[in-house]
Amino acid sequence: MPNKQHERIHSDDRNLCQLCMSELGGIYADLGLTMDELDLLDMPRRSFTVHFPVRMDSGKTKMFVGYRIQYNDARGPTKGGIRFHPELTIDDVRDLAFLMVLKCAVVNIPFGGAKGGVVVNPKNLSRNELEQVTRGYIRAIGQFIGPDKDIPAPDVYTDEKIMIWILDEYERIRGRHVPAVVTGKPYDLFGIKARSYSTSLGGIYVLEEAMKKVGMDSSRARVAIQGFGNVGSNAAKILHDKGYPVVAVSDSRGGIISEDGLNIPEAMKHKDRTGSLRDFPGSRNITNGELLVCDCDILIPAALSGQLTADNAEEVRARIVLELANAPTTTDADEVFFKKKVMLIPDIIANAGGVVVSYFEWSQNLNNDYWEEEKVLQKLRNIMITAFNDVHGLCHVESCRMRRAAYQLAVERILHAEKLRGNL
Ligand code: NAD
Repeated sequence: MPNKQHERIHSDDRNLCQLCMSELGGIYADLGLTMDELDLLDMPRRSFTVHFPVRMDSGKTKMFVGYRIQYNDARGPTKGGIRFHPELTIDDVRDLAFLMVLKCAVVNIPFGGAKGGVVVNPKNLSRNELEQVTRGYIRAIGQFIGPDKDIPAPDVYTDEKIMIWILDEYERIRGRHVPAVVTGKPYDLFGIKARSYSTSLGGIYVLEEAMKKVGMDSSRARVAIQGFGNVGSNAAKILHDKGYPVVAVSDSRGGIISEDGLNIPEAMKHKDRTGSLRDFPGSRNITNGELLVCDCDILIPAALSGQLTADNAEEVRARIVLELANAPTTTDADEVFFKKKVMLIPDIIANAGGVVVSYFEWSQNLNNDYWEEEKVLQKLRNIMITAFNDVHGLCHVESCRMRRAAYQLAVERILHAEKLRGNL
């Protein structure tokens, strides 16, 4: 049976897809897209369902089902994660693949979008079975992927160890070295520096550009962050190191607040020691609900979907909301923020730093050229700031919400590529 964590991540992504599809409905109508354009956006180019055998530790053979959808490759080879999840369906994979097309388009990197995965609960597999499932899946889809076709990456319950098995199996099939076939590899074997915190840092580059737009003083801006996992804790650490007062943070057990700013490295040690942020010396305990409406200038949801709703959006005191989590804001709350002139930086751009650094990893592998961390960060910054300014500029022209502008820009870029190719 799936555990709670499995269910959470899966439902977060479903919320994200629903939000995206409803946003797109409005955009298609307003842009007056033709039936040809709608059809082209509506249908994935290639969709694979594979069944493959795996010899389990018991000696018995079990059949597994895997999917890979290459949604659109007008702007470049398709790119997207591989997830292992017991409730994965082809419909989820298709929606998530389309989201990747949009995300790559909005940050203007030369990729289309894909997604894939295997219907399996990895927690029920031994390490050997996990490896055999990965290799079996790659043997099944191996002829359809490649550095100039479709490049997988880690996703829910797949990690750098699995990416190396993918690389190894693909190279066995091809009989040569092909490190650019997959991204998210360990740094010691064709990986890239800064990958582990690229999502958080990419968001912070965008945030600092947004602060300039709203005239916010960076030395005084107080930050509250919901979620203290990979994305939230890295964001807290980076902002603390930059000198921002991080006044509140939280995880699933609750949050802590200190109006003078928390000592984030010490809070991390406290969480390591006690398993929770609560009762951190020099702070007060708060609930996750209280964190969202606490007195701060910048609010960063970095945990779950559906946190900012019509029920609490009016009470939010931050002037900028940076969506590092997927779909943390409902459509109603988005409207409230727009009316209140709170700048909401949507997930599709705010948390795109990870895929941008994946693009760099692929590019390094193709050229056998390995960059220093400084170069990775400088290139990440350029891409994120340009993307933010593109979206912000369109918001200004259209007088619309930033999420709306981001999706519109992505759709326009995809259709433009299709037109240049002669497909429209
Ligand atoms: P994670 O599992 O490492 O961390 C999740 C955090 O959320 C944990 O600290 C957990 O305690 C906390 N949490 C769970 N329930 C909570 C609740 N009810 N209230 C407050 N906090 C709660 O996940 P992550 O990789 O940090 O991802 C966080 C979000 O960012 C997700 O929405 C994910 O889809 C999105 N995201 C992550 C990446 C990435 O590179 N990791 C990229 C894009 C988007």
